[in-house]
Amino acid sequence: MTSSIIEQARQIRTKNFGDALCLHSVIYPIDFCTSGCTYCGLSTLLAKEGAHGVRGGMRPETFDWLIRELADTGYQVHELVFGTVAENQDLLTKRVVRWVERARAAHPESYLIVNCDTLHPDGYRRLKEVGADAVWTFMEVMSPDIYAQKHRSGLKADQAQRLEAPQRIRDAGMAVGNALLWGLAPDWKAEFEQFVAWSKEVGGFDFVATPVQQTITLPAGSSAPEGFDIDPPLTVSLEMYLEICANLRLAFPDAHLVANTRLDPGFVYGKVSEITDMCNGYVWTGARSHPARELVEIGHVQSDTTQMNFYNPGAETAGIQQTCPPGVTVDLRFGGRNNPVG
Ligand code: SF4
Repeated sequence: MTSSIIEQARQIRTKNFGDALCLHSVIYPIDFCTSGCTYCGLSTLLAKEGAHGVRGGMRPETFDWLIRELADTGYQVHELVFGTVAENQDLLTKRVVRWVERARAAHPESYLIVNCDTLHPDGYRRLKEVGADAVWTFMEVMSPDIYAQKHRSGLKADQAQRLEAPQRIRDAGMAVGNALLWGLAPDWKAEFEQFVAWSKEVGGFDFVATPVQQTITLPAGSSAPEGFDIDPPLTVSLEMYLEICANLRLAFPDAHLVANTRLDPGFVYGKVSEITDMCNGYVWTGARSHPARELVEIGHVQSDTTQMNFYNPGAETAGIQQTCPPGVTVDLRFGGRNNPVG
């Protein structure tokens, strides 16, 4: 049964997206958040316990340099990821807008994806005005009781706001992305069914990402609060990830299905890419250990205290192409920001 789902998913991917695997850069300008999610290394819950060792962010001039460097390398699509930097959505809007303006100025022709918490309708319109093309607001988990357990404080605790966000994003004229965090709920199939049903209620998604929860490594001598998810409630194996992605492909045949290299990059680029049509390329986590004026080499793995432990393939894409299976071609373009998604 599973193998036939995977084969169907491959066929749908080829029919709707051809052989292109669109790589995007992932940039965390701010490694700071004021929300209390129980599965994230940026959670304020960890800070209270002295376990949270990453505060700060990227210097604006470093950000400008990075965007231009990635543009020179050929990257056309950038995902800017923000934690919840305020309990006030207007203030959050202002802060995110500043980074989007910088990205747009540094790379005018890029396709800009903003990954941030929920905003008011005015906030989304403002993001559109300054040049955002898409907004991703990840739901992470659907079941209301599990959602409440995992989101203890901050903007993200308001599940109703997140359930309405896709319509507000689309009303503002931007493409919409969403995702569940696989591993956060023990029964992934039950979560999947709720996610698909909800997506139909809110008009579907242009992007569906496929993040996987990771174990968080706490600094020596620190502890986590009770109920904090240091280890995922469900361990997502490579085979399970492939099955989840195949089910998502069948449920969202026209959406960009976005893998990431939190799992084995050889498997993600080499196998899952037959089903997914987007994946992260270069990742800058904002952590202090990243060099300020240098793109890191292939294999740089960053910050396993924060859930940002992506494998970093480096800026050059030749190595990724070698990892891809026959019939999958790395492509850094996205049709330009004035063209429709896809
Ligand atoms: S998941 Fe997002 S909102 Fe929650 S603590 Fe982490 S960065 Fe903040």
